[in-house]
Amino acid sequence: MQMDKVFQVADLLNRANCAVALTGAGISTASGIPDFRGPQGIWRKVDPSKFEISHLYRNPDEVWRLFVSIFAPKETIAPNPAHKALAQLESMGKLCAVITQNVDGLHQAAGSARVVELHGSLRYAVCTKCGMKYTLGEVLSTYNGSAPRCRVCGGVLKPDVVFFGEPLPQEALNEAVLLSELSEVFMVIGSSLAVAPANRLPLIAKRHGAKIVIINSGPTEMDEIADVVIEGRAEEVLPRIVEALRAGYREGAFRD
Ligand code: NAD
Repeated sequence: MQMDKVFQVADLLNRANCAVALTGAGISTASGIPDFRGPQGIWRKVDPSKFEISHLYRNPDEVWRLFVSIFAPKETIAPNPAHKALAQLESMGKLCAVITQNVDGLHQAAGSARVVELHGSLRYAVCTKCGMKYTLGEVLSTYNGSAPRCRVCGGVLKPDVVFFGEPLPQEALNEAVLLSELSEVFMVIGSSLAVAPANRLPLIAKRHGAKIVIINSGPTEMDEIADVVIEGRAEEVLPRIVEALRAGYREGAFRD
């Protein structure tokens, strides 16, 4: 563990009035959900074009089978120490918000109150024809291997997440841009920063004067613009940052 960098991040968080975290699939790998581009990523086994919206319309049964196999809620899936550390930072008044590219709901499950979901959420499925919304639990309770259909109009349902080729929810994107502009520390956690427009947010934050921190187990596309890069596992690094902050308060090095 690069402890000097852990202390450096704790110090930045201590000084900032508004820190924001942008999280990606890497924060949830320790919870048992694979990422896309990491060494064990989904794209080692599945062609990315399967996550294009046009593919859902052409092959809804196949896309639903994929979604259920990767993302269906399992009892074993729970927030890990990285999600919990971000929730703790928020309750300590050291984190304004989490902007997430994830669709798994694990930040909310860990107790984070302000979570901006850029790519939608697996809590719901939505009708591609009439827009009727269902909870995913309701849909999965009758799932039989074929794409579920709308009870009202018979249209194919879609998990309420953003597929490639679809726009991001405008309200969430606006909030994410505003938070990036306001942030004094902008932490990217578990994201390859390969997916636009989420990967523009660190640039917006940097342009508005934020210090950029990247915590990732491999290189990202924005390492060179970062002030601190910690190469490591989020579930190990983030609890250390919380510990370092608490130690700083106990020892009087930081203001509470
Ligand atoms: P990505 O797969 O492109 O990148 C994940 C990064 O996290 C990789 O660089 C990997 O090396 C790193 N990583 C893996 N495990 C880590 C760990 N324990 N600690 C720190 N870093 C770790 O993911 P992305 O940038 O989020 O973009 C992929 C898209 O896929 C996102 O839009 C997201 O919506 C979606 N997705 C979401 C989930 C989820 O909700 N859990 C899972 C897979 C994909």
